[in-house]
Amino acid sequence: MIENQRVTAKIAAGIGNSDVFDVILIGGGIMGCCTAYELSRRGLSVAIVEKGTVGEGPTGKSSAIIRQHYSNELTARMAYYSLGIFQNFEEIIGGECGFTKTGFLVLVDAKDKKGLESNIALHKKVGIESELIAAETVSELIPGMKTSDLVSAAYEPESGYADPYLTVTSFAQAARRLGTKIIQDTRVIGINFEGGKVTGVRTQNGELSAPVVINCSGAWGAQVAAMAGIEAPIDSCRVQVAFFRRPQGYEPPHPVVADFINGTYFRSETGGLTLVGLIDPAEADAIVNPDDYQEYMDDGFLLDAGERLVGRYPVMTHSESTGGYASLYAVTPDWHPVIDEVPAGSGFFICSGFSGHGFKLGPAVGIMTADLATGVRTPQFDPSLFRFGRFADNKLVTGGYEYSIVG
Ligand SMILES: Cc1cc2nc3c(=O)[nH]c(=O)nc-3n(C[C@H](O)[C@H](O)[C@H](O)COP(=O)(O)OP(=O)(O)OC[C@H]3O[C@@H](n4cnc5c(N)ncnc54)[C@H](O)[C@@H]3O)c2cc1C
Repeated sequence: MIENQRVTAKIAAGIGNSDVFDVILIGGGIMGCCTAYELSRRGLSVAIVEKGTVGEGPTGKSSAIIRQHYSNELTARMAYYSLGIFQNFEEIIGGECGFTKTGFLVLVDAKDKKGLESNIALHKKVGIESELIAAETVSELIPGMKTSDLVSAAYEPESGYADPYLTVTSFAQAARRLGTKIIQDTRVIGINFEGGKVTGVRTQNGELSAPVVINCSGAWGAQVAAMAGIEAPIDSCRVQVAFFRRPQGYEPPHPVVADFINGTYFRSETGGLTLVGLIDPAEADAIVNPDDYQEYMDDGFLLDAGERLVGRYPVMTHSESTGGYASLYAVTPDWHPVIDEVPAGSGFFICSGFSGHGFKLGPAVGIMTADLATGVRTPQFDPSLFRFGRFADNKLVTGGYEYSIVG
């Protein structure tokens, strides 16, 4: 009877008795799906093992802002490349990603003026369309915004936001069309090694074999790394977003705003709504168990986010809230990911720890992780900046701003 139940569970999960792959990816978020797509495109046999369903984790709840504003060259290049994929998604990947071009504004005070200016110079070098603009131009882009406290502002006309769930499921479908096997409702519970080399994974529904296993489990990144005996500094941190309805006369979508002065970001959402989240380093302190945390929004957060929004966009004073939710960032000590083989030569890779800025980078990350796993080099996407050993060496990735979510 027990044996029969096991067989039924295996069939439901799509696991056969002799499933052998070139690569197994743990996690069906944006990183797992983009990497599976790239590996399958290169002719490898790939499986994604997801404990729930594709995109049901933080990826599906991402604010999915697609901006290119970064303060180091590699991430700016990754964002620039990935924007091109979002802009031409149907043609390149197939299916929809819901990219909405609204433009992206960064607002800073004196503290971040220098950082902003040097970033714009960097962006121009990379090829990103990005410029410093005057406060009057900000008011023209978003009528009703308070600009009296701005010291400097930048604008990216090509940026916007996507639909995260549509994007990740379209990548999953594209990978599946190329042969990727997607095994859902199946939790990886162990990783098998022989002589220091990975040989596959143990799941609640059976075992799968592969000489390469990639940990794309986001906020569960440390939990999965521990299965391979690795202590990874990836914290699972609870973050929240809230929605407010824009008043009559302000219904059309507005540009995405990163307001460093009020510590918020906000963007349009369908239905005349504005989505608000925080730009606050304290978010890294809200460490939770990723399998047991409050997924609904706190009242205190709603008040705080609402006040900060009104401080910048006074037309929202009388707007009603339509709720919000909580999800997870996978935060490393420098808010940048690990994309590395750990330990070298083991066949076990980590692609996790993207904190609050990974969604937009997914297409480039897929290439970088696939490159690493197959021993290919794409010079413009050298992943060595994201090596695991930087934490032990105390050589963290540094950015131009105090708050590293911006990268
Ligand atoms: C509220 C919020 C707003 C954000 N806003 C933005 C933004 O505007 N722009 C941006 O670029 N980024 C943003 N981000 C960040 C971005 O969404 C993340 O960096 C990105 O989605 C992480 O993707 P991932 O694939 O690494 O992880 P995840 O989406 O967490 O996927 C990991 C998957 O692994 C699965 N898993 C875990 N453990 C196991 C196991 N043992 N076995 C099998 N499966 C397992 C999980 O179920 C999950 O589906 C935001 C994030 C949040 C939470």
